[in-house]
Amino acid sequence: MKVLVTGGAGYIGSHVVRQLLLRGDDVLVADNLSNGHREAAGTACLEVMDLSDNAGFRNLLKTFQPEAVIHFAAFIEVGESMQNPLKYYQNNTANGFTLLAACRDSGVKNFIFSSSAAVYGTPKAVPVPETAPPAPINPYGFSKLFVEQALRDMATSADFRYVALRYFNAAGADPSGEIGESHNPESHLIPLILKAASGEREGIKIFGTDYSTPDGTCVRDYVHVNDLADAHLKALDYLRDGGESRVFNCGYGRGYSVREVVAAVRQVTGKDFSVTEAPRRAGDPAELVADSRELAETLKWKPQFDNLRTIIETAWNWELNRRY
Ligand code: UDP
Repeated sequence: MKVLVTGGAGYIGSHVVRQLLLRGDDVLVADNLSNGHREAAGTACLEVMDLSDNAGFRNLLKTFQPEAVIHFAAFIEVGESMQNPLKYYQNNTANGFTLLAACRDSGVKNFIFSSSAAVYGTPKAVPVPETAPPAPINPYGFSKLFVEQALRDMATSADFRYVALRYFNAAGADPSGEIGESHNPESHLIPLILKAASGEREGIKIFGTDYSTPDGTCVRDYVHVNDLADAHLKALDYLRDGGESRVFNCGYGRGYSVREVVAAVRQVTGKDFSVTEAPRRAGDPAELVADSRELAETLKWKPQFDNLRTIIETAWNWELNRRY
């Protein structure tokens, strides 16, 4: 298939691009390289382009004529979205709408959207199904939800179908060691703990120890990035085969607390490091765990890396031998 991947030089995007290339799809990556890395796009053709470049995207769509667009390009930090909400609404929402209009005008009929568990806010119960009412508690979650809504409306008004994938916590790296997670500055839990284990950072802070969870720290559903990537390929095939527009959760249905992740990193790496208890981070819900049965049933998604140890091992391998 001919696929345009926005943000394909980023963390999740690069793992999707790698799998698309491995199966022989024709992939064009558009990425402004603000958080992405040229090397992460592998052998895919890369256009360095910002999501706000409407004319550029229109031109790209006209010349490449993709059968599908996978849209990753976005800002991703909950904490930052609390400090600077308009940055998130401008890039994730407004520029997302502009991309959708360009897709509509150039006849793109299949769209895969990187959504987030952040659309649920603080779910009433976990594991949370897709039918739970969306109620974000931070601008990041709203910025994603608004695009989901636009997609829903587009799909009812035009010959256009989409899959929105609500990621829980992406983690790990491709076992080849060629690509992995690399944010600057890093804000995500597993890479930060690994940097504490490697000695690159002094230690790790636990944000909040008074949540209503078994050990008082936040619980998240960490899902290996290659299993997430596979969900995108399956979603593409589903749309190509005429599947109707859908929203799917992407997680394993099992959560780990921050303390459990710290303990697992100590075990996998054999390293010790300092752990400090710190106040809660604004915008964090206590517990996010996916009910992903719809993804497994409808898309026949079968996770291959569903194990916290494997996630940490692949991330540790990347951390020790990172290429960017
Ligand atoms: N977290 C933490 N210390 C850190 C970074 C993150 O305790 O240095 C916690 C954070 O509060 C959240 C969990 O780890 O409960 C996962 O955070 P992350 O930023 O990795 O992902 P998010 O859940 O925000 O998508």
